[in-house]
Amino acid sequence: MGATAASTPLLEQYDRVRARYPGHLVLFRVGDFYETFGDDAKLLARELDVQLTARAPDAHGQRTPMAGVPHHAVETYLARLVRKGHRVALCDQVEDPREAKGLVRREVTRIVTPGTVVEDGILGGPDHNFLAIVVREGDGGAWAAVDVSTGEWFHGRVDSSRLDALLMRLAPFFPRELLFDGGTPPDEELASTLRREFPRARLEPAPEPLEPGAMPTGLRAEEAADPIVAHADASLAAYVRTTQPKLLPILALVDRGTAPRTLLLDAKTLRHLEISRPMNPDDPGGATLLSTWDETKTAAGRRTLQFWLTHPLAELEAIRARQDAVGALVASPGALSSLRQALAHGPDLARIVSRIVGRRVRPPEVGALRDGLRRLPGVRAALASAGSTALLEQLAGDLTPPDGLLATLESALPEEMPANPEDGRLFRPGCVPELDRAQDEEAAAIRELEALERSEQEATGIRTLHVRYNQIFGYYLEVGRSHAARVPPHYRRRQTVAQAERFTTEALDEIAARLLEARERLREAEVRQWESFLAGIDRAAPALYRLSRALGALDAIQSFAQIAVRRRCVRPEVDDSGLLLVREGRHPVIEALLEESFVPNDTELDLESARLLVLTGPNMSGKSTYMRQVGLLVVLAQAGAFVPAKFARIGRVSGLFTRMGFTDEIGRGKSSFMVEMTEVAEILRDIDARSLVLLDEVGRGTSTFDGLAIAWATLRHLHDVGRCRAVLATHYHQLTQLLEGLRAAKQAHLAVRERPDGIVFLHRLVPGATDRSYGIHVAQLAGLPPELLNEARRLLRRLEAEGISLAEEKGASSSGPRYAQALLFAAEGGPRGSSAIEEELRAIDIDRMTPVEALRRLAELRARALARDAEGP
Ligand code: ADP
Repeated sequence: MGATAASTPLLEQYDRVRARYPGHLVLFRVGDFYETFGDDAKLLARELDVQLTARAPDAHGQRTPMAGVPHHAVETYLARLVRKGHRVALCDQVEDPREAKGLVRREVTRIVTPGTVVEDGILGGPDHNFLAIVVREGDGGAWAAVDVSTGEWFHGRVDSSRLDALLMRLAPFFPRELLFDGGTPPDEELASTLRREFPRARLEPAPEPLEPGAMPTGLRAEEAADPIVAHADASLAAYVRTTQPKLLPILALVDRGTAPRTLLLDAKTLRHLEISRPMNPDDPGGATLLSTWDETKTAAGRRTLQFWLTHPLAELEAIRARQDAVGALVASPGALSSLRQALAHGPDLARIVSRIVGRRVRPPEVGALRDGLRRLPGVRAALASAGSTALLEQLAGDLTPPDGLLATLESALPEEMPANPEDGRLFRPGCVPELDRAQDEEAAAIRELEALERSEQEATGIRTLHVRYNQIFGYYLEVGRSHAARVPPHYRRRQTVAQAERFTTEALDEIAARLLEARERLREAEVRQWESFLAGIDRAAPALYRLSRALGALDAIQSFAQIAVRRRCVRPEVDDSGLLLVREGRHPVIEALLEESFVPNDTELDLESARLLVLTGPNMSGKSTYMRQVGLLVVLAQAGAFVPAKFARIGRVSGLFTRMGFTDEIGRGKSSFMVEMTEVAEILRDIDARSLVLLDEVGRGTSTFDGLAIAWATLRHLHDVGRCRAVLATHYHQLTQLLEGLRAAKQAHLAVRERPDGIVFLHRLVPGATDRSYGIHVAQLAGLPPELLNEARRLLRRLEAEGISLAEEKGASSSGPRYAQALLFAAEGGPRGSSAIEEELRAIDIDRMTPVEALRRLAELRARALARDAEGP
């Protein structure tokens, strides 16, 4: 049964195509429009905000809904559909309607999906666009990710039955489209988890893997090594074959067996640290590490920078190689500035290559490829003026264009390429003899037409006689109405229009036929030549991809160098120690916003003696900022960048785990406490001695004492079992007392200055705990009403005067500091109303009461107590 209960041959044809492409939105070419019918028409009208119309009623009076978009603007609409996660099948007319017997034949000529597009108009920017796959099998799994618009393929395996271990590898790719294969029976957990963890991705069960012989050579070598990874690759390749068959053969692994290990950043850490995307989805332009650290000049550079920041390295040699390269440019400002100039405004070579190979390229882009290659000597020259390092030399070596390619492009292409093939010549004169011949014939025929016009003017004496052209009649002779009588008898009338008569003659027909033939030959020859010209570039595609990657890497390195100079950064010492030492570190993003007013802070963690830092301090004192700063400095250091600090020494981190504040998952059906605990549980399962853990306010999502208990147990677990470096911020001041038993834990707080009119946050980290929460000050800053604040102060004073502390509740001494925040809740936990009556009792000033007054008061309090009892607990 089709979508439309088809009643005409056209709709039957549509339904047949639609049945062959389930899960696709079929755009069906009819005349100048791509149409959809039935339910898909309603969907299209809704998604694109285009008009929903209906076909003329059929024999049964049925009107099929219909919605379409004009074919010349289809790209724009495709972009919007793809962004909304649709997969579109474009069904075109594959024969000339004039030659068709009956209904025109139509076939799907193109499948457009979010993860496999190459057109700039649909991609909407230089950032990577990954299609990825997850395969889960027994106790392990594999993943793979490919960006067909840049030719880059990545993959790996995970030896853990836990899904989050696998998803962690995929998170930094931010896939736009995600295939999954959980074996049989279908793995429900897999699909629902992916939906939750990758809400932006279009999900799809993986297709049958491609047979080994059909795999691209760039992937074949590794197949034997790991069957499950090979399976992931082959399924991913199968999907690419249905959408970008021409691109599949040139896709290749980026690091064949040599991929350096990377610092693992799970999805939460990427989000909490706002590395490449702002945490708040309502503020897509919000500052991120990427946006503040981006001084790249090219699209490839921007992609490389993003990749490096979301995949920092975990191998010292690779990190130091990047640092050396950055250092060489920092030390040579002249080289840095000429390199920046040489890179500026360069074209996006990788994307152009993908469009050439996928045959979706426009002529000016091929011109831009040539211009991009012409710039390479300038880039190499700029590099030569910097000090040499192994990485810079390697990259300079990769900047050589494939043999003869530039010469071919220069000799074949005109300097200015036409926007479309029909707008001008695609090849220089003299470069393709067949084209030159056809062009000469065309020019000769045009000259003959001009001569004919002149001779006919003379012969008839009509000076306003002209040779003209239109699409319907082709060439004709036009004569003004008033001269029509003077036209000779051998003129054949073709058409009468308002002010003129149109004629043709045998001579005109003969020249026009030759002219049109020459033009057609020219057009066909040009299309053929263009195709074979592009096919010639296809061979160079892998080399051009490499070249583009080298340019991207150079650009990312110069961006690090530029920022290092501008923002007073130092080269961090990254080593195998267990240290994390930073002198006067600054938050790379917030500092950029606050500039001079940012307060630098030190960090001193040591795996042996001080691996756990517990931060206290009131809200707004800067705890989160400090913790994020520690994480971001590690990310930058291991990405190879210099860091905003006076000095930094960082013992290699292999995994960075964070939990900060309340995440955006509350809306996804879990309570905030459940989410928090799930996240903490995942972290505790994944960590090892080389991990860095940043936890903000653990145990906050529940009532005070169980929250405190969980926070304490988490801390102890991190200290005793996890034994990794960790920073934990808490408003549970009580924790600080309990910490004394933990050998490798230390405390610090963010200083606050008290002034008669309130408090000032100094944002300076000082050793030791704080015993004040300043909650009321913060509430005052937030603008709560003065009466409310007075009431709160009064209550706080009373609680503090009573000296109830957590230690007392546990039966320990009462000498410790007071913990006001916890106790506000504790008081609530007592019998209802008792504290109010007790308080009034305490407040009674017996010395100033008359006996009668005292008696009346006593009666009143007793009555209230009885009334409360009657209400029940
Ligand atoms: P907390 O986590 O303790 O509630 P935040 O880290 O959210 O506090 O910081 C509160 C505000 O203080 C932030 O908006 C930030 O701009 C400012 N701040 C934090 N750290 C610093 C610093 N080192 N220097 C200057 N301002 C800071």
